[in-house]
Amino acid sequence: MERGLISVDRWAEGSQAYFLTHLHADHTQGLTSAWSKGPLFCSRLSAKLLPFKFPGFDLSLLRVLDVGVWHSLSLLSPSSASETLVRVMPVDAHHCPGAVMYLFSGDFGSLLYTGDFRWEMTSEKANRSRDMLVKALNGNRVNTLYLDNTYCNPSYSFPSRRDAAQQVVHIIASHPKHHVIIGIDTLGKEDLLVHIARVLKIKIWVWPERLQTMHILGFDEIFTTKTSLTRVRAVPRYSFTLDTLEGLNKIHPTIGIMPSGLPWASKPLHRNENFFDSLARSYYNKKAHEVASMEERLHPEIFTVPYSDHSCYMELHEFVQLVQPINMRGIVSSSSCYIDPSYYFGHCDGVYQTFQRVQHKHKERGKERVRVLRAESSVKVNDLTDSMRKGRKCGAVGVSGVYMSRTSASRRRRRGAKIMEDIYAD
Ligand SMILES: [Zn+2]
Repeated sequence: MERGLISVDRWAEGSQAYFLTHLHADHTQGLTSAWSKGPLFCSRLSAKLLPFKFPGFDLSLLRVLDVGVWHSLSLLSPSSASETLVRVMPVDAHHCPGAVMYLFSGDFGSLLYTGDFRWEMTSEKANRSRDMLVKALNGNRVNTLYLDNTYCNPSYSFPSRRDAAQQVVHIIASHPKHHVIIGIDTLGKEDLLVHIARVLKIKIWVWPERLQTMHILGFDEIFTTKTSLTRVRAVPRYSFTLDTLEGLNKIHPTIGIMPSGLPWASKPLHRNENFFDSLARSYYNKKAHEVASMEERLHPEIFTVPYSDHSCYMELHEFVQLVQPINMRGIVSSSSCYIDPSYYFGHCDGVYQTFQRVQHKHKERGKERVRVLRAESSVKVNDLTDSMRKGRKCGAVGVSGVYMSRTSASRRRRRGAKIMEDIYAD
């Protein structure tokens, strides 16, 4: 794909169409309520949730893409100033509400950007996504795969979310007199909470903003903001600290449960340290055989359960074998734990790695709009601007490169990739 056409989960100037995989904070850095750089494409559910996260967002810039449907966009080639057709199909990523991966197709071949995803083949929903992808690829291989490599290491092995959810239920049921806190994000792990509520026939406390999100998602009965109604509370991950737990234990016996793909730690936590950051860091000090147990204890009152919304290594392997990418890159880049998926999956049949890293720099460009040509979907149509029709000056073109932001030590702060990064001549 030519550079300067689209961005995925990256919000800098210089693209004609912007795609959002999901609304976790590490994928929306740079996106604000004042967004005006161009049309933003996302799933129907993300479009519903987005105004809550970004109040005042200009809704006329939102373009809803239905899952499993090819949508055609007419963009303007920066090199030739002629129209170029890009087709895109969102596929459910089974990560958090609204999360999708994007399959792009055009004269560049095909490009698949997974965003964060869980490829859990024991799940019926994931199998539907598999069928969707197989049908969309129609026997062709993916030319370039951008993979959620969060757990791209053979030592990352965890059970299905259903099994892990059962483990959480077991822990709560085994502590009938205790209060329970569960660390969660502002979005995601709803299925876990619903499972707990239904099996144990209890309500679950969430903080007020989270309750609003639950209502947007259609969960009206299960969640409450009244502490007197339940002993189980889902709390923001940032507040899940040893201090918090010890403070709660002074009032009432309380246990903490961390649902995470990183249920291991090699050393005690510091008092005010966020448990999740500690897990991510300490994992890398462990040996593979130490990380396979289902449930671990970081502290007498803390249980960690491998409930993950990201794919484990074997699921990633299965996914790579399915789409047989010719080129492959990880979307997670961090100084302490970046794992290039080609290191492990380069041996898969036919997978060829380029390992290229593209130098890049941006050139400021104004707001641009996208026209949808063929009505295979219900995407709103905008006219191309004059400036797009006339084209722009640019440097070498045709490099299939992706900008990978180097991120901080925390994988959770990772950023998205800009597909077809610019190498514009000044
Ligand atoms: Zn995410």
